[in-house]
Amino acid sequence: MSTQKIPVTLNPNPKLPTFDMNAIAFGKNFTDHMLVADYENGEWKNVEIKPYAPFEIDPSCATLHYGQTIFEGIKAYKNEKGEVAIFRPDQNFIRFNTSAKRMQMPTVPEWLFMDGMKQLIELEKGWIPNMPECSLYIRPFMIASDPFLGVRPSSTYKFMIILGPSGAYFSAPMKILIEQQYTRATPGGVGFAKNGGNYGASLYPVSLAQAKGYDQVLWTDAIEHKYVEEVGMMNVMFVIDGKVITPSVEKGTVLKGVTRNSAITLLRDMGYEVEERYLSVAEIVDAHKKGLFTEVFGVGTAAVVSYISRLAHAEYVMDFDVDALKVAPALKKQLNDIRMGNIVDKHGWLLHI
Ligand SMILES: *Cc1c(COP(=O)(O)O)cnc(C)c1O
Repeated sequence: MSTQKIPVTLNPNPKLPTFDMNAIAFGKNFTDHMLVADYENGEWKNVEIKPYAPFEIDPSCATLHYGQTIFEGIKAYKNEKGEVAIFRPDQNFIRFNTSAKRMQMPTVPEWLFMDGMKQLIELEKGWIPNMPECSLYIRPFMIASDPFLGVRPSSTYKFMIILGPSGAYFSAPMKILIEQQYTRATPGGVGFAKNGGNYGASLYPVSLAQAKGYDQVLWTDAIEHKYVEEVGMMNVMFVIDGKVITPSVEKGTVLKGVTRNSAITLLRDMGYEVEERYLSVAEIVDAHKKGLFTEVFGVGTAAVVSYISRLAHAEYVMDFDVDALKVAPALKKQLNDIRMGNIVDKHGWLLHI
C-alpha cells in the first residue's frame, strides 16, 4: 500500500497564532484541521483534511441510537530539538480494527489510519507543545452514519481524526474504591473494545464511589467480584513482595493497553519480575496485612502512570505514601525519557514524523 497524498483544505482562520500553550484545557482545545473519510458501498472515499468544524448528522443517525461507535487515544511528542514522534500508533491501528470487528463496523486500511494521521500531524506540528510532559493527543474515531432506526449494522460510516494539545498532566494521587456491585466488562462482552458504550456505562458506578470520597473504582470480575481488572479507564499494576502483578487480558474483560504492554516490557528491562495473571482481592488484602503490598498504580495513554494513595475494599482501607513509591515513578521516568528522546528507543516504539 503506497502512501497516498490526501487533499488538504487549509483553515482560513487558524487559532494557532494566538493560542496560549500555557492555557491548555485537555479535551477542550482542538487544532485547526481534522481528517474525515466516508465509508459507502464497501469502500472508504472522500478522504480529506479540512478545517476543524462541527458537522451535521441526521437525527435518526444509527450511532446516536445504538452506539456503533469506536475510538482510539494516541499521543505525539516534540523533543527539545523540535523533532516530532508518535508513540506506538501501529498498536492503536491494530486495536482500532479489533474494536471495529467486534462492533460489526468496517475496518480501516493502514493508509487511511496511519498515513492520514501522519499527514495531519505534519500539518499541525505547531500545535505540539515542547514543554516537559506535554503532548498532542490524537483521537481517531468511527461512527455509524445511516439515517435509519432499524437495529442492524449501518451501511455507511464516518472515520475522523481530531487532535488537541495536552498539557503536563498533573493529577493528584487517586483514591480508589474496589467495586463490589457494578461491572465494566463481562466475558463474551465488549470490554476489550474501545467502543463508546463502555464509558457511558461506567459513569454511574464511579459517581457512587465519588459520593463516598473516592476518585475512581477498581473494577472486579463480573461473575464474583473477586478478581481485579482495571482502574477507571486505565490498566492497573500492583507491587507485591517486590514483584509486579497485572491482571491478565485472556478473558477479554481487560482492555489491552498499549501503555500496559510498554510498561511490562520496560519493567522487565529494569529487572522486575512481572506476572500477568488473575489477582484476587483476597490476595491483595492478605499481602497488605503481611506488609508485602507496597504499590498500586494505573497506566494509560492519557495520564501515563497514575499514582494511587488509597485503595479500599468496603471498610478495609489500604494507604500508600506516594513519596515512598519506587516502581511507579521509575516507570514513569523511563516512558517519558523514551518519548522525549532522552534515552535510546531500543524497542523502536517511536514513529518519527
Ligand atoms: C484506552 C484504555 C486503556 C489504556 O489503554 P492505552 O492503550 O494504554 O491508552 C485501559 N483501559 C481502558 C478501559 C481503556 O479504554
